[in-house]
Amino acid sequence: MARQYEQSKGQFEKVLPLIPGGVNSPVRAFRSVMDHPIFAESGIGATLTDIDGNTYIDYICSWGPLILGHSHPNVVAALQEAVLKGTSFGVPTVLETEMAELVKERVPSVEVVRMVNSGTEATMSALRLARAYTGRKKILKFEGSYHGHSDSLLIKAGSGVATLGLPDSPGVLEHTAQHTLTVAYNDLESVSLVCEQVGDDIAAIIVEPVAGNMGVVPPQPGFLEGLRQLTEQYGILLIFDEVMTGFRVDYHSAQGRYGITPDLTTMGKVIGGGLPVGAYGGKREIMQMIAPAGTVYQAGTLSGNPLAMAGGIATLRELSPDSYMHLERMGEKMEQGLRANAEEAGVPHHINRVGSMVCLFFTNENVVSYEEAKTADTDLFAKYYRNMLAEGVLLPPSQFEGMFLSLAHRDEDIDRTLEANRKALKNI
Ligand code: PMP
Repeated sequence: MARQYEQSKGQFEKVLPLIPGGVNSPVRAFRSVMDHPIFAESGIGATLTDIDGNTYIDYICSWGPLILGHSHPNVVAALQEAVLKGTSFGVPTVLETEMAELVKERVPSVEVVRMVNSGTEATMSALRLARAYTGRKKILKFEGSYHGHSDSLLIKAGSGVATLGLPDSPGVLEHTAQHTLTVAYNDLESVSLVCEQVGDDIAAIIVEPVAGNMGVVPPQPGFLEGLRQLTEQYGILLIFDEVMTGFRVDYHSAQGRYGITPDLTTMGKVIGGGLPVGAYGGKREIMQMIAPAGTVYQAGTLSGNPLAMAGGIATLRELSPDSYMHLERMGEKMEQGLRANAEEAGVPHHINRVGSMVCLFFTNENVVSYEEAKTADTDLFAKYYRNMLAEGVLLPPSQFEGMFLSLAHRDEDIDRTLEANRKALKNI
């Protein structure tokens, strides 16, 4: 039976005059694939139900946080327990100690951690700290990487900026932008050249250890190692932005998977288990500069919020090294199935995957940076997207975002998804 989206369409019309573009975060408008988004009613496990009553196998998973799937019973129970005690206090709770201990145990480079409310806050604060610590102004980031929407980082950004084809944002002052240097992801030679020229002025290199905001782009062998070596040589801080990869690609996050120790790490998504959380941390010597231990100011009314901590702690406690083996197995099955189907259908394709982050690019280029990602056929992606939705599979509504698998995705879900994918690729 054909799916109806009447309720979602009606709701979108109603909200359009009330919220910019009808949404509170740009990619949610589904603009590059449809003329309206679908509105969620509820989620359970790997399934999302919309307000028209359609159900989907969900690969958005809240854009990464839901590594356990929707409404995991232990997360729900932890939240219920916490909410009965009060929603926010503005004085410390024991949960914050517990969270800091958990983070340190899983990600040993994070000796000291500060909780914030979003990935944006985490990266923005880490940059301020890096600038204060080094006394330098410049930062280096990679084209097509997204590190949230703070001014310094909204330069050649990925994610929604890439999806909507937007130029660097108006409102970002030139004198801010001029201190942000950008080079192509995986292009170590360019990083090395920039360092030769202005290495002594660079406070930090910030990198997604697996790029997840231009589709999925794994680090090429030697790339992260090279960054570590160059940053050490020039006295630059290496910041791993693990907002997406943290607790997703490995029990010890991407830094554990690749065996590189950054100076600072930013986190978000999984660490909040679906509640608004971010965190930044790293070497004690650097983190001790944050107020009130030190003089670099950063604060938050709701930072370390007890509900957010309870949701995050319950999520982290549910994850074991075995969880990542399951995610790897599901991811591999998905990758192989997608490749076989794309070959059979004869569509241009390149599939990148790291663990449970998977991306089918509609291009035959080997995607190692934003340059190749941009060659993907976005019209073809849009057609593919609508076909998949009609088959009951909810993908991230952009060619420049990866699919997120969760522990709630079972073999049957992958099988059903691949069957839908086979049909969709033949149709387009
Ligand atoms: N860094 C990375 C790598 C991200 O993927 C994101 C969000 N997708 C952010 C930072 C910003 O996080 P938030 O949306 O929570 O502000």
